[in-house]
Amino acid sequence: MMVAISLANIVGIALFVLGLHYLNTPATARTGNRLAMVGMAIALLGVLAETGIVDWWSVLIGVVIGATVGIVAAVRVKMTAMPQMVALYNGAGGGAAALISSVEAFMAFAHGSSFDPVVSVSLVLSALIGAVSFAGSLIAFLKLQELMTGRPITYTGQQFVNGVVALGILGLGAWFVATAGDVPPWAFLALLAGALLLGILFVLPIGGADMPVVISLLNSFTGLAVAVAGFEIDSILLIICGALVGASGTILTVAMSKAMNRSLTNVLFGAFGAAGGSEPAAATGHVQAIRTAGSDDVAVMLAYAGKVIFVPGYGMAVAQAQHSVKALADQLEKRGVRVLYAIHPVAGRMPGHMNVLLAEANVPYEQLLDMDDVNPEFATTDVALVIGANDVTNPAARNVASSPIYGMPILDVDKAANVVVLKRSMRSGFAGIENPLYEMPNCSMLFGDAKASVDALTAAVKAL
Ligand code: NDP
Repeated sequence: MMVAISLANIVGIALFVLGLHYLNTPATARTGNRLAMVGMAIALLGVLAETGIVDWWSVLIGVVIGATVGIVAAVRVKMTAMPQMVALYNGAGGGAAALISSVEAFMAFAHGSSFDPVVSVSLVLSALIGAVSFAGSLIAFLKLQELMTGRPITYTGQQFVNGVVALGILGLGAWFVATAGDVPPWAFLALLAGALLLGILFVLPIGGADMPVVISLLNSFTGLAVAVAGFEIDSILLIICGALVGASGTILTVAMSKAMNRSLTNVLFGAFGAAGGSEPAAATGHVQAIRTAGSDDVAVMLAYAGKVIFVPGYGMAVAQAQHSVKALADQLEKRGVRVLYAIHPVAGRMPGHMNVLLAEANVPYEQLLDMDDVNPEFATTDVALVIGANDVTNPAARNVASSPIYGMPILDVDKAANVVVLKRSMRSGFAGIENPLYEMPNCSMLFGDAKASVDALTAAVKAL
């Protein structure tokens, strides 16, 4: 029996690693998910057989309830609401790690037993990090679901208050470790309450599109909390799974901050977008000299082009225009136009946002080019069609040193012979700044909802 359980653990872990590897490219991502799913089922069976502390019926009821909630949520969630769903599930992971620690601690309080140093340190860390991740993820969910304001909430002395709460928790944790867990139960409860409070306070000053970075960071916290909980209950499986989540969450956090050319400290403490935000350009007193185009003119431009690059952004997600975009590409390809898609790492509101949407519309993966691969292509492109993207195309990032996004790598759409921007108004994007691209002589604006505009273009191309 023990051999079978060890084998289940090893197979489960191997499938997680393999699953993660397959998530490297959109083409194999589904397989990766399935492998990890099978790995999770095998690992769970192994754990249940090993511990034997629950009867199979209660497990089955739990699985049915959990799977029902999971399936309904996954089927019904809109792509634009994905970040908050991830936040909620991530919070559950952090909460679970904190609960494992609480159970261990309260069992010890009841039996008057104490912990060895490794276990007491792990217990404190997983309770603390898990509770921070749980409460922080819930606030992230409330913000993204617009159940509370999505803007950064700041007040004077904020960092000081956070610092005091953090010190208080660390003090309680040190007391627990120093006495091998021989503290009154209220001290452990205070540690949990303090960590929950810190989770809330830590996420309040972060807002807008910085949220995905925070969710990814909280994700790495959850991984860490789970890995540490593994030391507590002597589970290699938890240690390895937690480490995988912790490491991938950290890598993603760093990659997103880099793609926005901001330090993680700036994302966490900079309260980006606390004031101002997406004011219409006109409201800033600067009325841009822009040219507008009608769908018929743009359709002619596209239909007689040799190479067209579609540049999707957050607006394509809002308009749910991905299927329409694919239909337009099909029409153009029928006429012999070469169509490519330029994917900026932070286009949209979560990592891989554009890849997921375009994959849903069956756009071939080989047409999706990453920023570094696509940028040299623009100089030989007839039309760059910007579909609801703004900041990721802003040339100010290259040449205006005072711009908040200065230094952020962008898609060089302005190098194309013609640029057509599909958006609804002159409002700014997430960064809340004007985009000098719109004033360039090779750029024209096609105003309207992205889906409606793309559909109109497809109809006009068909009619040619
Ligand atoms: P932006 O937020 O810069 O711009 C999106 C544009 O889409 C807006 O200017 C808006 O203009 C337009 N839009 C909105 N709805 C529609 C619609 N229905 N039809 C047509 N247009 C529409 O998006 P980008 O994708 O260019 O950039 C992403 C931003 O998010 C970057 O600043 C990035 O740093 C940030 N970010 C991204 C993360 C990620 O993981 N992807 C994580 C954290 C931050 P209008 O209102 O006039 O229509």
